[in-house]
Amino acid sequence: MEQEGQRSKTLWVAVIGAGPAGYYTAEALTSGDADVRVDIIDRLPTPFGLIRAGVAPDHQSIKNVARRYEATNQRDDVRFVGNLSLGRDITLAELRELYDAVVLATGAAKDRPLGIEGEDLTGVIGSGPFVGWYNSHPDFRNLDPDLRIAAVAVIGNGNVAVDVARILAKTADEMAQSDLAQHAAEEIHSSTIRDIYILGRRGPLEAAFTPKELGELNNLDNCVALVDPAQMPEESIDSELKGAAKKNFIALRAMTKNKPDDKNVRLHIKFYRRPMAIIGEDCVCGIRLEETTVEDGKCVGTGRSEVLPVGLVVPCIGYRSSPLEDVPYNENWGVFKNDEGLITDGLYCVGWCRRGPTGTIGTNKPDGVGIAAKILDEVKPSGKAGRDGLDTIVAERGLQIVTFQDWKKIEAAEIAAAHDGAPRSKLTDIEEMVSIAET
Ligand code: NAP
Repeated sequence: MEQEGQRSKTLWVAVIGAGPAGYYTAEALTSGDADVRVDIIDRLPTPFGLIRAGVAPDHQSIKNVARRYEATNQRDDVRFVGNLSLGRDITLAELRELYDAVVLATGAAKDRPLGIEGEDLTGVIGSGPFVGWYNSHPDFRNLDPDLRIAAVAVIGNGNVAVDVARILAKTADEMAQSDLAQHAAEEIHSSTIRDIYILGRRGPLEAAFTPKELGELNNLDNCVALVDPAQMPEESIDSELKGAAKKNFIALRAMTKNKPDDKNVRLHIKFYRRPMAIIGEDCVCGIRLEETTVEDGKCVGTGRSEVLPVGLVVPCIGYRSSPLEDVPYNENWGVFKNDEGLITDGLYCVGWCRRGPTGTIGTNKPDGVGIAAKILDEVKPSGKAGRDGLDTIVAERGLQIVTFQDWKKIEAAEIAAAHDGAPRSKLTDIEEMVSIAET
């Protein structure tokens, strides 16, 4: 009875997705005086979502934010439940029965399609799988892209395009202190790629990359970044620019001074080119681009086109969330239909699956704080079974969940396996991770 009495005072929340948005939500939900317990559920046995599988392997300082999520996990009122897949192991309806509120923090894992001919050819690999491959995501460990090619087209002018180009361009020495997947290191560092194209459909003024990330491209050991001076506006425009745009222009102008034979590999940043078709019979051998101009901020075709001979195309043009059965979905935006995070009574969404794939890791913090405040305001404890109920289902179905303590064993194995200078050597096989967790 006492247990039931306590239960009726506890607000049980399940967060689906152990990435930044999920952790900031859990942190905010449990920071106040209210009696709130949160289970953060993830289909992988590893926490931290994009921090582990999205942030570039050579950007370790960004990954340090995981320490904050670890601190959240040290609390009794927050539990990580890894290796539990929504849809496969448990349904959303079941979770909604068990918890007062369910928060979807499932990110945006699907690539936005280019919508052009040839998109399905072998050798077209969206940034989702490609980044997952070099970041050891279990889903993409066997991707095996053919890098025995001369040239690659990276489509898009955002930070993901910059990440992909940089990872392809960096030498083994430059990646020594990273946690680049071993399988990717072997392919990338023996690749025959000599030309990398970053292709923007609009101009330098409209580019979405940020100055720090862009600047890194002009500081690579074996790769020279090239920008056609004819694609840069007159220098007189610089005085009208502010902030990131101004810094981007400084970096791009510096690149106009580089020479193609300065280094072994060339990274061409080409603006005003929109992809028209990917060419090839069985696999990619080129990409047809239309020259564009920008009118009122919009990309307008000129009718002139060119073909770039490339053996790999990596579209980095944004993401969509994966739809879920019985959850209303906005096809145009690729997000769950929601009103400031509320999908329907007791069901919420946060992060990229709420607002689309924009912003930095930190953008998820106000998002999580906002949704936590909304839940605390709108949802009252109703004596639901919460954690005990979930554990009963897990036991009945013979599921092997991975707790945070279990994850620490997996992490210890990854740290122990790291080569000199690297922070970890990530495991990629779920079964292997679960068996380490069980020891
Ligand atoms: P993004 O910043 O939105 O950039 C997407 C790019 O794709 C834009 O240049 C866009 O051009 C282009 N694009 C879209 N559709 C296209 C099409 N059909 N054909 C050709 N180009 C097309 O997205 P992202 O690079 O995926 O990054 C997602 C978010 O994560 C961003 O907020 C980014 O800053 C962040 N991120 C940050 C870091 C970091 O801080 N180090 C690293 C990676 C990602 P238009 O502008 O013309 O639409």
